[in-house]
Amino acid sequence: MTKTNESTLEVREELMHLASSNLFSSSLAVILNAIIVSIIFWNIADKTFLSLWLLAIIILLTLRNIQAKSYLKTIQKQSLESLEKSFKGKALLTSVIISAGIFFMFPADKPYHQAFLTMIMAGLSAGTVMSLSVYKDLARNYLLILLIPFTFAMYQLGSEIHILMAVLIALFLMLLITFSKKYHDKIIELITSNMLVLESEKELKLSESYFTSIFKEVPIGVFTYDKDLIITEANNSISELLNTPVHKLINLDIKLANDQSIRPSLDVTLHGEKGYYEGSYHTQISNETIWIKMQAVPMYDINNNIKGGLGIVEDITGRIQADEKIRHQAFYDHLTGLANRLTLNDRLEQQLARLARHDRYGSILFIDLDNFKTINDSLGHHIGDILLKTFAKRASTIMRKEDTIARLGGDEFVILLSDLSDNKNHALEYSHNVAKKLHKLMKEPIEMEEHTLYITLSIGITTISKEEEDINVILKHADIAMYKAKQLGRNTTCFFEQEMSEKIESQLLLGSELREALKHNQFELYYQPIVETKSSHITSCEALIRWNHPTRGVIYPDDFIPYAEESGLILSIGDWVIERTCIDYKKIKNKIKNISINISSKQFNQDNFVTKILKTTQEYSVDPSALKLELTESVALDNLLATTDKMNLLKSHGFTIAMDDFGTGYSSLSYLKNLPFDFLKIDRSFIQNILDNEDDASLVKTILTISKQFNFEVIAEGVEEKEHVDFLKDLNCEYYQGYVMSKALPVNKFEKFLNDREVS
Ligand code: C2E
Ligand code: CA
Ligand code: CA
Repeated sequence: MTKTNESTLEVREELMHLASSNLFSSSLAVILNAIIVSIIFWNIADKTFLSLWLLAIIILLTLRNIQAKSYLKTIQKQSLESLEKSFKGKALLTSVIISAGIFFMFPADKPYHQAFLTMIMAGLSAGTVMSLSVYKDLARNYLLILLIPFTFAMYQLGSEIHILMAVLIALFLMLLITFSKKYHDKIIELITSNMLVLESEKELKLSESYFTSIFKEVPIGVFTYDKDLIITEANNSISELLNTPVHKLINLDIKLANDQSIRPSLDVTLHGEKGYYEGSYHTQISNETIWIKMQAVPMYDINNNIKGGLGIVEDITGRIQADEKIRHQAFYDHLTGLANRLTLNDRLEQQLARLARHDRYGSILFIDLDNFKTINDSLGHHIGDILLKTFAKRASTIMRKEDTIARLGGDEFVILLSDLSDNKNHALEYSHNVAKKLHKLMKEPIEMEEHTLYITLSIGITTISKEEEDINVILKHADIAMYKAKQLGRNTTCFFEQEMSEKIESQLLLGSELREALKHNQFELYYQPIVETKSSHITSCEALIRWNHPTRGVIYPDDFIPYAEESGLILSIGDWVIERTCIDYKKIKNKIKNISINISSKQFNQDNFVTKILKTTQEYSVDPSALKLELTESVALDNLLATTDKMNLLKSHGFTIAMDDFGTGYSSLSYLKNLPFDFLKIDRSFIQNILDNEDDASLVKTILTISKQFNFEVIAEGVEEKEHVDFLKDLNCEYYQGYVMSKALPVNKFEKFLNDREVS
C-alpha cells in the first residue's frame, strides 16, 4: 500500500475537489452578507464605493465559482499547482476586498451598525473556517486579513467597551485559527484514510481478478460446492475433465449423481476434515468412465462457519491406462491376448492350493500345432500369426470362465482346467472331451488371403491334484504327453504316464547332442538287403542310419530323426547320408544294382535338392540310377504339382523313386495316381499280420493289384518269416526286405554278407 500524506498528488487533488465543492454555498453566504451590509449601509456610506465593493465581491466570487465548477467537471486544463495558487490567491483577494470594505465603512459613531458588522464578521469568519480549512495556511491568512483590520478599527475607537470588544475579537480570531488548524488536520486524516480504503479495495479487486483467472485457467480441475453438495463454481479444467460445459456443472446436485463414489470424501469436508478419493468415476452428463484423484477441503465463511467445500480433481486416466497396459504386457501374450507363462504359473499355483484343500482334480492340456514350423517357415510369419490367433480365438470359445488358456511361446499353448472332479477318471474323461472338442474346432478350414489351411493339434494331458506340487514338473509331464502324441503321428491326444517320462527325457537330451554327433562323425550307415522274391537274389539294399553314441551305444533313427527334423538338422544329416551312400556304393556296386536312401520331406522340399544330389553323385562318380530315393507321401502335402515336377526332374536324371511306408499316412489313391513313383513299399505293420489277420492280408493283396495297374513294383517291408515270403511269392510281390534275410549291417559286414552268399 502506498504511503499517503498531504503532499501526494492524490491527496492534493482530493483537497482541491473538496475546496471547490465547498465554494458555492460559502460564496452564496458571502454575497448575501455583502448585499445585507450594502443595504444597511446604503444611506451611511458612499454609494459608489458601496456599489463597487459589492460588484467586486460578486465578480470575484463568480469567477472563482466558474473555475471551481470547471475543475469539478474535470474540464480544467491547468496544472494542479497553478490551480491551487489561483484558488488561494483569489480567496485571499476576496478577503482583502471584504476586509477593506468593512474597514472603510466602519462607523465610529453608530454602535448598532458596529454590532451588526461584528456579527457579520463573526459569521464570515466561521464560514471561512468551514470552507477554507481545506488549505491550512489559506484559512489562517484569510482570517487574519479579515479580522485584523476590523479589530484595529474597533480598538482605535478607544473606549473601554471598544477595546474590550477588540480584545474579544482578537481572542476569537486565535480560537478560529486553532480550530481551523484542527479541522484541517481532521480533513486530511479523513481523506487519507478514505484513500487507504479505496486503495485496499482496489487491491482486493485486483487479487480477486487474479484469483478468478487462476481458478479458471489452472490446469487442474477445481470446483466448489455448498453445504447441500450443490456445485457453486467449476473451472475450465474440470469442465474438460468431465467433458461437460461449465454452465451445466454449476448448480448440479452431487447427491443426485449416479456415481456416488466421491461422496464420502466430500461429506467429511462438511465436518471440517479433508477428503481424498482415488479411483474410477463415471461422469454424469458425458457418460464416460475416467480415473480421478480428488482432494477436498472445507470452505469457511467470515464467521468461520463451514459454508461448503472445494474439490481439486486430477484426471489420472492416462496414467492408469499406461499402468494397465504395462501390467497387461507383463501378464498377457501380446499376439493372442491370452495369459502368458507368468499368469499361467500364478493361476496353476493357486489352483493347486485349492485342489489340495478340497481334495479334487483338475488337469493341464499341453497343445502344440502340428507342422506349425513348416508353415511358418514356408508361408511366412504373417500367416503363422494368423494361425496362432485363430487357434487362440477358437479355443477360447469352449473354455469355462474359471479355466485359463495360455500361450507359452511359439505354437505351444496350455489350458488349465480347474477343479473338475473328486474322481481322477472323471477328470480325465472331462479333459479328454475338451481335447476332442479342440480337435474338432480345428477341422474347420482357416481361410486366408490366398490360402486355405487346415491345422491339426497334438495334445498332451496330465491331471493335477494334491499329489503334485511342482508346477514345472506338471507342465513337463503335459509336455511329454504332447510329445508322445506327436510321435504317434500327430493330430491326436495322449495322457501322461510315468514311463513316458524317463524315455522322453533321455530323448530330449539326445536332441541337444545331435549337433555334436554330426561334428564328431558319430553317424554310420547300415545296409539291409532287398531281395527279389522270385529268384531270392539280393538285388538292392536300403541305407539305414545309426548313431554310435559315445555313452549309450547304438541309437536307432526312430529315436533321433524326429528331433533332427524338428531342429532342421535333418538337412545336414541328409546331405551326409547321400554322400556316405555314394562312398559305400563303390564297395558293393558289383554285387547289387542300387541303394535305397531315405529322404525326409524337409530335405526333399529344399529348393536346391536336385542340384545338390546331382553334384554329390558327380563328385563321387556314381550314376544316379544307382540311387533309389525313398519318399513318404507327406512330401507332396504342400504342393502336389511342384512335387510331381521335382520327381520327374530327378527321374530324368536317372534316379528312381519309391513311396515309403505306404498304408500308414494319408495313403490316398490320388497320390498313387498322380505321383510318378517307380516303387511302392508296403509298411511293415501290414506285413507282420498277413498270416493271421484277414484284413491285413486282403489289404496287401489289394495294394498289389492296384500297383500292377499303376505299373509300380512293390517292395514288402518287415518280412520276418519264411511263410511271409511264400505268401508274397504267391501274390507276385516283386521284392521283399526283412529280418528273414538279414538285419541292416555295417557296410563291411554287409559286403561280407554278400560275398558269403555268392560263395554258397
Ligand atoms: P523305414 O524306412 O521304414 O526303414 C525300415 C525300418 O524297418 C528300419 O528301421 C529297419 O531296421 C526296420 N526293419 C527291417 N526289417 C525289419 C523286420 O523284419 N522287422 C522289423 N520289425 N523291422 C524291420 P530303422 O533302421 O530303425 O529305421 C527306422 C526308420 O528311420 C526308417 O524306416 C526311416 O524312416 C528312418 N530312417 C532310417 N535311416 C534314415 C536316413 O538315413 N534318413 C532318413 N531321413 N530317415 C531314415
Ligand atoms: Ca525306408
Ligand atoms: Ca518303410
